[in-house]
Amino acid sequence: MRGRHPNLWRIWSLALIGLPVCWWLQPVPALHPLPVLLLLLLTILTMALPVGRLGTRRVRFGSAVVLYAALLYGACVGAMISLLAGVAAQRLRQREQNDIPLYAPALALSVLVSGAFYYYRRQAGSAVPQSWSDWLRLLVTVALFVGLRVVLLWWSEGRRHAYWRQVARVEFIVEAVTLPTVLAALLAQKQWGWLSVLPTCSAGAVGLVATRAIIHAHQAQRQVRALRTLHYRLIAHLHPDRLLQDLGEELRRLLVFDRLSLWSYSRQEAHLQIVGVHPQRERAALLAYLPVEGIFSKAIDQRKPLILSDMLRARLHEVAEHFGGHLLIIPLIVHEYPWGVLVLERMAQREPFTHSDYEAIQVLVDHLAILLENMRLYRQTVDMATRDGLTGLLNHRRLYERLKEEISRSSRYHHPMTLLMIDVDYFKRYNDTYGHQRGDEVLRILAKILQQNVRQSDIVGRYGGEEFAIILPETDKESAGVLASRLCEVVARTPFPGYPGGAPVHCTISIGVASYPDDGLTVSDLVASADDALYLAKRYGRNRVVIAS
Ligand code: GH3
Ligand code: MG
Ligand code: MG
Repeated sequence: MRGRHPNLWRIWSLALIGLPVCWWLQPVPALHPLPVLLLLLLTILTMALPVGRLGTRRVRFGSAVVLYAALLYGACVGAMISLLAGVAAQRLRQREQNDIPLYAPALALSVLVSGAFYYYRRQAGSAVPQSWSDWLRLLVTVALFVGLRVVLLWWSEGRRHAYWRQVARVEFIVEAVTLPTVLAALLAQKQWGWLSVLPTCSAGAVGLVATRAIIHAHQAQRQVRALRTLHYRLIAHLHPDRLLQDLGEELRRLLVFDRLSLWSYSRQEAHLQIVGVHPQRERAALLAYLPVEGIFSKAIDQRKPLILSDMLRARLHEVAEHFGGHLLIIPLIVHEYPWGVLVLERMAQREPFTHSDYEAIQVLVDHLAILLENMRLYRQTVDMATRDGLTGLLNHRRLYERLKEEISRSSRYHHPMTLLMIDVDYFKRYNDTYGHQRGDEVLRILAKILQQNVRQSDIVGRYGGEEFAIILPETDKESAGVLASRLCEVVARTPFPGYPGGAPVHCTISIGVASYPDDGLTVSDLVASADDALYLAKRYGRNRVVIAS
């Protein structure tokens, strides 16, 4: 009775107050203890053993038995059976299914209200409809009973919109399947006594099996729908974090969780790196990296999902400080290779995850692993086609494409745009002295310096050899000149590797600056102007900036 169901105690109080009121309005008839006991046992069983799950809700047939008891012996008996069975079923299942404390009193309250309507001005013992108006009354009673249950569950759960639809759907299926059996049993019992209920019950059992099949089909249909949605989303965007947000939305329809995080696995560095968190506002609550140890390495090595209850989690230091509540840790495996892990968290007040929770999302998770791997391969291919292998900057081809795009953007909006051509001074000499591998290292360091000293929107590329280019959108020649001088200074100040174990070496760069539209209207004219300026910078003594004029 904590946390999860804000109005649970109210429903219990209403049900408990409703009992004597109902008793006073409509005294309980003389009862045979044996059938009542049987009904109680049947209610406990149907409450403790759900027949399946639809979305995040368990489907139970407790309501059918309680309705039957209420129609036979009056609302009071039905409500009492519901409350007693609720307590007993909860004892049986402990924390494993903590939706029972809510289910039972909501059932009792609905039975009390709808039963009061049914037996109003009627004898408690004459439940079997005698006339058309009786049938109509019965129909309204059932509608009232179902409607009230849905409203009560929705209200007690904090009035979530999506939840309302889910509860209504589950109730509809249960009532549609069980009501004919309940009525048939009622009629048979009144006509031919207790034994005649047996064949009706067998028919009910067959109905139960059929319902299980329907529920499974329904659940499978949901999974397929979620899978299809996920595929469409994948076409729409290629970022794992965005994919995770969509996945989170879909998973919420299949199981209850409070936070979902996706981690990629690096065997070399023995760590997990965060890829995304759903909901996104929770991102700040988690670290960027986690060491792969203890339970994580177990999940990855065994390639099996792990379920940790709140108590167990608190005892494992590798998860206790990062995650809260109950956990479901699922390794994502692609072609026998661990891609990473998916961690689902549920608040401690809720019930722990079960294997059936995992089964509900297994297809989606298997698919997620494949989608993520495909995404990685796609990005890798795109990177290889557009990036330079040594420095990771844009390559010559992509640089030209971007230059063309930026020139047309500038011409459309009449904004200035500037190009920097950068060349390392005396680089041949450096290579000859320290070797080409050291030279490569210098180029890598330079690439980093250039990238760190420009804005996010500026485009840095490797033009070729030891030449770099930077496209500065929305930047005029003057401010570009200031930036270029700063770059020269930063590079000149930076110590570069020399002989192994020896003193660091200093390198310098020269920069030519040319702007659109002043120095060229086309890509080739602009590059030629920047190149000419760079040539002048070399001629004037290097380690300097020359602006085209
Ligand atoms: P300056 O530009 O100041 O006139 O002299 P420089 O020595 O830099 O001129 P040059 O263009 O003649 O030499 C460029 C050198 O850059 C030649 C080549 O050894 C070196 N180089 C080009 N690409 C790479 C590369 O990918 N790695 C290494 N290590 N060196 C490269
Ligand atoms: Mg050079
Ligand atoms: Mg050169």
